Amino acid sequence: MLKIDNLYASIEDKEILKGLSLDVKPGEVHAIMGPNGAGKSTLSQVLTGREAYKVTAGTVEFEGRDLLELNVEERARAGIFLAFQYPIEIPGVSNAYFMRASVNAMRRERGLPELDAMDFVKKAKAEMKLVGMRDEFLYRSVNEGFSGGEKKRNEILQMALLEPKLAILDETDSGLDIDALKTVADGVNRLRSPERSMIVITHYQRLLDYIVPDYVHVLAHGRIVRSGGRELALELEEKGYGWIEGAKPAGA
Ligand code: ADP
Ligand code: MG
Ligand code: MG
Repeated sequence: MLKIDNLYASIEDKEILKGLSLDVKPGEVHAIMGPNGAGKSTLSQVLTGREAYKVTAGTVEFEGRDLLELNVEERARAGIFLAFQYPIEIPGVSNAYFMRASVNAMRRERGLPELDAMDFVKKAKAEMKLVGMRDEFLYRSVNEGFSGGEKKRNEILQMALLEPKLAILDETDSGLDIDALKTVADGVNRLRSPERSMIVITHYQRLLDYIVPDYVHVLAHGRIVRSGGRELALELEEKGYGWIEGAKPAGA
């Protein structure tokens, strides 16, 4: 599904990713943990194709295609979804309008018929019930005035409606109370399937009590320095990162 090989990437001439390799197969959930500033968000931005990030070496294949050749919209239509730490607000654009446009772009790409407004609203309302959002959120501007928890629920809603092939969650759990955290986790777990892969970036092992990953990786200084099963997350919670070779803070 996703094959990252020896990836180097920089932003504003600062090299952040330094030889990162990662292989994600269909149906797998990979958790990526690591100290602040390690390059976790950079990795998610590079995968979604944000232009500010320059790939200087290495390859990324997505379903056998060269991902780096595709622009942001093409990657989204190819089935990559990024939920990130600070969701954007779009004043003046209703959530329903925004999501239907995205969903229909995706459906066209996959050769499926577009949803008309009525079909879309029906589908959206059913999903909203599952993530605990009231119907009024369909008609409010995207994320405008949403609380932290409401933004996260909204992202899970977007993800559920878009049915991505690869979902990337970048610290979607940060700052959430336990109810919102469970909603995020339930939403992610509902979407787990043998065809869909997920990369869950998190600082805290707590989220991984609810979203049980197949693999846990430690990203430090721009590369994966350790991989293991979910027990690695528990070990990290207990011991921090300092004991892992290659994960020591710079200068330590
Ligand atoms: P993480 O998500 O693991 O905390 P990031 O990928 O956000 O780490 O950041 C990795 C490094 O890149 C940090 O040292 C950060 O300061 C730097 N960085 C991120 N964005 C920019 C930017 N726009 N300009 C310069 N440096 C940046
Ligand atoms: Mg960070
Ligand atoms: Mg980050």
